[in-house]
Amino acid sequence: MTIPILTYHKVDTKFEFGITRVSPSQFERHIKFFNDQGYKALTVSEARNLKRGEDKFICITFDDGYEDVFFYAFPILKKYNFKATVFVVSNFVGKMNDWDFGFGIKFKHLNWEQIKILFDNGWEIGSHSANHRALTFLTNEEIKFEVESSKYEIEKNLGVVVKSFAPPFSRYDENVVRIALDCGYEGVYALTNGRKINGVYHRFAVYTIDSTASLKRKLEGAKFEKFKLNLINSFSEFTVLINFAKNKIFHK
Ligand SMILES: [Zn+2]
Repeated sequence: MTIPILTYHKVDTKFEFGITRVSPSQFERHIKFFNDQGYKALTVSEARNLKRGEDKFICITFDDGYEDVFFYAFPILKKYNFKATVFVVSNFVGKMNDWDFGFGIKFKHLNWEQIKILFDNGWEIGSHSANHRALTFLTNEEIKFEVESSKYEIEKNLGVVVKSFAPPFSRYDENVVRIALDCGYEGVYALTNGRKINGVYHRFAVYTIDSTASLKRKLEGAKFEKFKLNLINSFSEFTVLINFAKNKIFHK
């Protein structure tokens, strides 16, 4: 069975340039809507391993692992008895998002104590790499470092095997997927417009502009929503390039 997977980034009141932030009240409207529609939440690993289900299921995922997920999204999800999956950037746990260009506006990442609390509440903690670099630009050795060391770091801190990986900027190809699966991941979670490769699960990104009506269309896999998401994803290539250039300049 196909279970819709939604991806959020920031759930925050703080302004940013871009469309990946939803406000806490908007987020609550979304979760209330899924609850009213009769959806139950699973982590991505639970969904991957589900053989059959009578219920309507949904996966809520968060990329980057910002602190606001703990302060705003977690209490709302808890209220509706929903759990989620958060993909964290292991080298930035507890730090500011200096990996992102962000036009000078910085956001703080979850720390290990907060991640542990989410995990203890049934959440899955996946890897979003070690340093949030666009993996398709890297050598095999660098890719391996990004996927493997982040897995190790999360496992060391939580004492659990990490099985799910989300490539930064959703940049992946056969090579990236093969390296991730070889490192022991069981699922690679990317956004809509990527190619179909074994082991890759596609997700729908949720943006500032999304209403419950557009979410409903996303859940039903409507063509227009796919078109819109693909268009937004192509614009996000700009962010990838700008971050790539920045890392080239500052990380040498
Ligand atoms: Zn990311």
